[in-house]
Amino acid sequence: MDYDLVIIGAGVVGLACSNIFSQKGLKTLVLEKNHSFGEETSSRNSEVIHAGMYYPKNSLKAKLCVEGNKLLFEWCVQNNVPFRKTGKFIIALTNDEIPQMENIYRRGRENGVENLQHCTLDFLEKSNLGVKAAAALWSPDTGIIDSHRLMESYIEIAKMNDCDFAFNHKVTGIENISDGYKIIIQSDEDIFEIQSNKVINSAGLYSDTIAELAGIDIEKNNYKLHFCKGHYFRIHSSKKHLASNLIYPVPQEDFAGLGVHVTVDMAGELKLGPDTLYLDDKIQDYYVPESLKFKFFESAFRYLKNLELDDISADQSGIRPKLQGKGEPVRDFIICEESEKGFPGFVNLIGIESPGLTASLAIAKYVEKLLK
Ligand SMILES: Cc1cc2nc3c(=O)[nH]c(=O)nc-3n(C[C@H](O)[C@H](O)[C@H](O)COP(=O)(O)OP(=O)(O)OC[C@H]3O[C@@H](n4cnc5c(N)ncnc54)[C@H](O)[C@@H]3O)c2cc1C
Repeated sequence: MDYDLVIIGAGVVGLACSNIFSQKGLKTLVLEKNHSFGEETSSRNSEVIHAGMYYPKNSLKAKLCVEGNKLLFEWCVQNNVPFRKTGKFIIALTNDEIPQMENIYRRGRENGVENLQHCTLDFLEKSNLGVKAAAALWSPDTGIIDSHRLMESYIEIAKMNDCDFAFNHKVTGIENISDGYKIIIQSDEDIFEIQSNKVINSAGLYSDTIAELAGIDIEKNNYKLHFCKGHYFRIHSSKKHLASNLIYPVPQEDFAGLGVHVTVDMAGELKLGPDTLYLDDKIQDYYVPESLKFKFFESAFRYLKNLELDDISADQSGIRPKLQGKGEPVRDFIICEESEKGFPGFVNLIGIESPGLTASLAIAKYVEKLLK
């Protein structure tokens, strides 16, 4: 065997795994098709460290988010990764939305989100000028993070522990052989193969394709992904005094996204988004049409009363790897060691949408248990 472990994908989750497993002394290789790490979903998100109140009780999303939140704040302190505990308000805009806000409160308590609390509207409005709501929850343990530095910090520890990284190396085939896997790789110059005892598939938007390459029936196992795009608009710097915390209206009933919310970045700039748009084709289309401007403005103006149409302009977008098709019930992360399907030592991570950034260390520790 060339390696004890091959990790497919250098997004935040694959990198968190490289950090945890290389510390265990496993000879580990990370394969990434792009020329650097974190060029897809891991660098196209809200950079929020979530607290864990949205996800169904006992789901992996709930458990790994609550655990990951604590682990990530600790990691940031120990490894000089910039973060801020900004706190977050979840607001009901009308009395009709209050029952849904209360559902989030209950769910948060069930999930073990310790400090989630009801708050007065005075408290909300003091630090967020002109924000109007009918009722609000306050989550002090929500924060923001420099996700690029986070990924760098995972890589630094992995490299110190002799983990190898191969960028511009795309996995194009996987063969189940006795005591491991043969992995076919295409680099700029060459097509070649290596062998590894264990494999972690953390290929994000293409994790279903990788599972299929290995020979797993993704239709039968419900592993097929949908691309669900989220656009962002930025609020111009001159209006950054409008909010200093994260402000989330109560989400859509189907939880496809969390609703057009306000996030603050590490520089104190404000962003609106992401919305949710299922793409017909699996194409990484990151274009943000200016024509969405009015929709974003209308959505945010419901609670940001001092916002004007000219205060916002098109920003970035990201694509969620969603197991849940349009209009379908919420799905949990798939994190599965596939011995039962005849693939021992092969772990699939599929549908790692939000809160995957928050949960990255907790996911890696969970995978470690699966591979023991
Ligand atoms: C709009 C949006 C907002 C979000 N906001 C938040 C948030 O605020 N907080 C939060 O916790 N989470 C958030 N998330 C979720 C979070 O970004 C993801 O869960 C996380 O980035 C997933 O990381 P990953 O490593 O699994 O995937 P990715 O970052 O997609 O990495 C997968 C890697 O695999 C590589 N790859 C794919 N196929 C191959 C192949 N054949 N060979 C080699 N390499 C391959 C890709 O190039 C890629 O680099 C958000 C997501 C979106 C889309």
